[in-house]
Amino acid sequence: MNMFRIFKHSPSEPIWLYNTLSRQKEEFVPLKKGSVTMYSCGPTVYDHIHIGNLRAYLLPDLLTRLFLYNGYTVNSTINFTDFGHLTDDADHGEDKMMKGMKREGYEITLDNMRRFALPYIESFKDDNLAMGNRPPTQYARASDYVTAQIKLIETLEQKGYAYRTSDGVYFDIAKFPKYGQLGNMDLDKLKAGARVEVNEEKHSPADFALWKLSDMGWDSRWGKGFPGWHIECTAMVFDTLGKQIDIHTGGEDLQYTHHNGEIAQAEALTQKQYVNYWLHNAFVTIDNNKIAKSLGNGLRLRHLIDRGFSPFDYRYWLLQSHYRTTANFTWEALEAARSALYRLRRLVYEELGDIRPGYIDSAYQERFVKALSDDLDTPKALAVLWELVKDKNVSAKDKLATIHSFDSLLSLDLSKDPRSGRAALGVIAEDDIPGEVKSLLEERESARQGKDFARADELRDRIEELGFEVKDTADGQRLKRSSV
Ligand code: AMP
Ligand code: ZN
Repeated sequence: MNMFRIFKHSPSEPIWLYNTLSRQKEEFVPLKKGSVTMYSCGPTVYDHIHIGNLRAYLLPDLLTRLFLYNGYTVNSTINFTDFGHLTDDADHGEDKMMKGMKREGYEITLDNMRRFALPYIESFKDDNLAMGNRPPTQYARASDYVTAQIKLIETLEQKGYAYRTSDGVYFDIAKFPKYGQLGNMDLDKLKAGARVEVNEEKHSPADFALWKLSDMGWDSRWGKGFPGWHIECTAMVFDTLGKQIDIHTGGEDLQYTHHNGEIAQAEALTQKQYVNYWLHNAFVTIDNNKIAKSLGNGLRLRHLIDRGFSPFDYRYWLLQSHYRTTANFTWEALEAARSALYRLRRLVYEELGDIRPGYIDSAYQERFVKALSDDLDTPKALAVLWELVKDKNVSAKDKLATIHSFDSLLSLDLSKDPRSGRAALGVIAEDDIPGEVKSLLEERESARQGKDFARADELRDRIEELGFEVKDTADGQRLKRSSV
């Protein structure tokens, strides 16, 4: 049984978030009192996601937890890009989905494209859950929203924001002078620095595709083809959350083309501010390199598990750095995260395991929530947690209650019931100790009492051979399964 519950905090601490749009921290004020709408760009489902991608979904999870803690309701969407995502930000290059289908020997049809995507969608959901992220209110598949996307493109065309070329329909950024706010894009430089434009029919290099003609795709007034990448997210935001939302998240790479594209389309359609707070996570690198399958370092959560790590070890490692700084992954760093988390778990499930939780320590709670409310300062929040753990002036009962409450924000799996927590640590309940091991333990206890340490060591080895590890503590011998 998971004892996870959200602890509400009162009075609420103002939440400050770094808004990429204004390039500063701003106090969060929702569009509608007491509720939050949040959209996160989901993965392109042509393969399994790597550990870097997971950082992009930890961000909305931490935000959701913080908002729930403060008594807000949260309506959130993560999408799946399951068609037509080109290999680069431009409107040319090979389509990732088609490339993936060819790799797996699929005949290229729309039905097969959905079929091909499905295992990667499921794999994403599994990884997201395994890492302790709450699922969003809804997942949305881009291919389920094509009619909505076509309607938006038609309206943009009617309003004069789009033009046709021989290969599709493009958004005319000259009609949207605010274009490029995110990442402070310099359009003049962009024009001057543009390579020989592949598509000479485009009015400006920054114009982007709303519809691409293709032999395979959906029917539309412009001909058979696919909607562009940016319009897909705008349509799913409108449909699942509304025309104006509080928060939009994504990896920092998405801000320049994808998110500026989304703003242009949405605001051209509504004449209202599309998103109030844009949040972007920095990248995870591996040995200071970009993560890419082509570089042979596309580590997945599965690969960490195969090496004996838990997804929560990875989560703990991520929480040690602020989401807006690059996090460089190494196995050594992951091992350090694992042992820190292990120490926390031992405290919660062994030392404090049988204690009934008392009261939340309000001084610690205030500092902890303040750290997270300062643009999700997770390194600081972890430091407060460790300070609490070591504080001898807080009673064991209150410590436990406070750790449980912190865990509803961090999700480090510190709130299981004590029995399953101990089982996860490999600590065994009295009833589950095999008779043979029990008598060896008894014999060893008498050897220890009689100061016959050579015999005690010998018996320890015999116990180990039976798959258990014995540790001598101030309260006597402690047993756990040696596989952990
Ligand atoms: P993609 O499937 O490439 O669209 O990526 C899904 C999400 O993961 C997007 O928000 C990306 O910005 C983000 N992302 C991709 N690579 C990394 C990385 N190495 N570290 C953190 N986020 C990433
Ligand atoms: Zn998106």
